[in-house]
Amino acid sequence: MKTAWDKYKNGKLSEVMDFAEGYKEFLSNSKTEREATKQAIALAEAKGFKNAEEVTSLKAGDKVYFNNRDKGLCLFVVGERPLVEGMNILGAHIDSPRLDLKQHPLYEDNGLALLDTHYYGGIKTYQWVARPMALHGVVAKKDGTKVDINIGDDENDPVIGISDLLIHLAKDQMKKTASEVVEGEDLNVLVGSIPLDSEDEEKKDLVKENIKKLLLEKYGIEEDDFVSAEIEVVPAEKARDYGLDRSLVMGYGHDDRICAYTSLKAILDVDKVDRTACCILVDKEEVGSQGSTGMQSRFFENVIAELLEKCGQYSELTLRRLLSNSYMLSSDVSAGFDPNYPGVNEAKNTAYMGKGIVFNKYTGSRGKSGCNDANPEFIAKLRKVMDDNDVTWQTAELGKVNQGGGGTIAYILANLDMEVIDAGIAVQNMHAPSEVASKVDIYEAYRAYMAFIKDIA
Ligand code: MN
Ligand code: MN
Repeated sequence: MKTAWDKYKNGKLSEVMDFAEGYKEFLSNSKTEREATKQAIALAEAKGFKNAEEVTSLKAGDKVYFNNRDKGLCLFVVGERPLVEGMNILGAHIDSPRLDLKQHPLYEDNGLALLDTHYYGGIKTYQWVARPMALHGVVAKKDGTKVDINIGDDENDPVIGISDLLIHLAKDQMKKTASEVVEGEDLNVLVGSIPLDSEDEEKKDLVKENIKKLLLEKYGIEEDDFVSAEIEVVPAEKARDYGLDRSLVMGYGHDDRICAYTSLKAILDVDKVDRTACCILVDKEEVGSQGSTGMQSRFFENVIAELLEKCGQYSELTLRRLLSNSYMLSSDVSAGFDPNYPGVNEAKNTAYMGKGIVFNKYTGSRGKSGCNDANPEFIAKLRKVMDDNDVTWQTAELGKVNQGGGGTIAYILANLDMEVIDAGIAVQNMHAPSEVASKVDIYEAYRAYMAFIKDIA
């Protein structure tokens, strides 16, 4: 099988390997959408991007970003051509499956303090137990201040986690179907077992009280503050090289920070563009893209209006024409062929690890339901740009017909009347705590995004 690795022989391998180092660093430090946004802003500012709130007018060559509530980002490099002619847009999501703390999470049960969770996104619950986990998030307090939480990823930090039933007593559990082996309501995180040192004989739940004391002393958080918090329980691990030849990366949250990082890097690395380049990083894809920070939010259109205004080109009609004349690569992870589970794919239309960026004409399920079905004229344009730039690419479907399926943000942008296609990087273990992707696919995706920004017209 010919793969993208073939291009990186004769000393060129370091290009691929070096790029992956930057990604591993980003992924290790982006355990939540907020952390991904924070890191993306830091990378963008280092490359000369300015916060749009601090900019009144823009001209060709200017670089600017709009921050959506610290949970999403929209970046632009203003092009030479008038905005009405449309933009080349890269989009990806930065939320990932995880366990969110409930609003009243903390309780004590027989000398153990636990945090109750509600899982976020589609997970196999049984994969999330008996492994080290970390707490990441933010607590918004009544006085308007915010406290960042980040416990479990520093090697000096403690970790937390969810227990699993010992095999010795699992006779009944082992008969259950996989979706019931660990019930969603049973994803309770053990966080403590030392009782509070108290003289008060009446005081109950001393282990819980001790955790409350610790939270107050260390973070200034009271139990009531959980009500206005977003705290996520995520795998405590750094992204690591995977494979004896170090050809892959294992880590939490490839879906979809892998496409977010590569899209971001592409827009950060262009200087002068003909058509305005845009990169959208959004939240809430894993739960349907709703809300103020999801792709369905009017945030994107509002930001385009602001951009037009700052460029001295705003009118409602210009905004509509700009959207209509735009092209988009909506990127999300694809299901990489897995030799352990070959039966779920149809070999001719499957994404293979190491064979470059994946284009999906459509996603969806049960007869393409819910998909964006990219127009062939647009795909033809894309093929030419990819081939002219020596990008290794493949096309695929998410599994064989009626095996399952999934959706992305592609249709939401396409509904704004622009040409959109699903693209992305193949991964194994999608939505598991540790996902796997090929370094050469990561690099080819980055190269594809660069080519798209510069050459699609
Ligand atoms: Mn995704
Ligand atoms: Mn997903």
